Amino acid sequence: MTKNGMRLTGVRKSFGGLEVIHGIDLYIPEGAFVVFVGPSGCGKSTLLRMIAGLEEVTDGEIAIKGRDVTDLDPSERGIAMVFQSYALYPHMSVRDNLGFGLKMARTDASEIERRVRSAAAILKIDHLLDRRPGQLSGGQRQRVAIGRAIVREPDVFLFDEPLSNLDAELRVSMRIEIARLHRELGNTMIYVTHDQTEAMTLADKIVVLRDGRIEQVGSPREVYEDPANSFVAGFIGSPR
Ligand code: ADP
Ligand code: MG
Repeated sequence: MTKNGMRLTGVRKSFGGLEVIHGIDLYIPEGAFVVFVGPSGCGKSTLLRMIAGLEEVTDGEIAIKGRDVTDLDPSERGIAMVFQSYALYPHMSVRDNLGFGLKMARTDASEIERRVRSAAAILKIDHLLDRRPGQLSGGQRQRVAIGRAIVREPDVFLFDEPLSNLDAELRVSMRIEIARLHRELGNTMIYVTHDQTEAMTLADKIVVLRDGRIEQVGSPREVYEDPANSFVAGFIGSPR
C-alpha cells in the first residue's frame, strides 16, 4: 500500500545558490515512526521544514497519501509540527494555548473544548489546563507543545529535536511518552534528532543523513548490525 504513505522524490534545497539537500528519495509508510538522524548541519531540520511546508522545495516533489503537496501551505498538508522551543504563549492558560490554533482556524468552541480535553487526557495534563506556561515544569511545557499538535488531528506529526532542551532524566521519560503516543494514536511520525540513542529506541525506520544526502535507511537493527558504510557504523555505533 505505497499510496497511503509519504513520498519524497528528488527533493533538493538551496540557500542562496548553495545546495544543502542533494536529491532525497524516500518512502515513509503510513503509521511509521521514522527518525532522521545525523550530525549537526546535515540538513535534518531543512528536510523536515520542507515536509511541513515551512521551507520551499528548490526541486523535486513531496506527496502525502498520493497527493502532491509540494506547493501547498503548511495548513493544507494534514501535518502538525512540534518544535524544540515550545513557543507557548506566556500570557495564555494551557487550555487557551492548546486551543489557539483551532480558534484561529474558526473551529467551533465546543469542538475546540472536545479536542483540548481529549489531548489533555492523552498527555495527562488535564489538571494543568488553567495554569500558565510559567507555572509549568519543562516536561509539562513539552507536553503542552505536543498537545498543540494533537488538537489539530493531523495525519502526520513532525518533531524537530523536541527533547533537546530537557535534562537527561526528563529526556528519557518524554521519549517513552512519545513512543506511547505513537502506539496510541497510530499516526505517521517523523522525528529529527542528532541523538543516536533516541533514534535507536524510537524508530521503526532510521534515515541516516550526512551533508544533505541519505547514507542509509533501515530498521535500528539493520543500521546497527549491517551499516552501509563506515560513517553509519561510526555514527550509530559510537556512544556520545
Ligand atoms: P540540521 O538540522 O541537521 O542541524 P539544518 O537543516 O539546520 O541542519 O542545516 C543544513 C544546512 O543548511 C546547514 O549547512 C545550514 O547552515 C544550512 N541552512 C539551514 N537553514 C538555512 C538558511 N535559512 N539560510 C542559509 N543556510 C541555511
Ligand atoms: Mg536542526
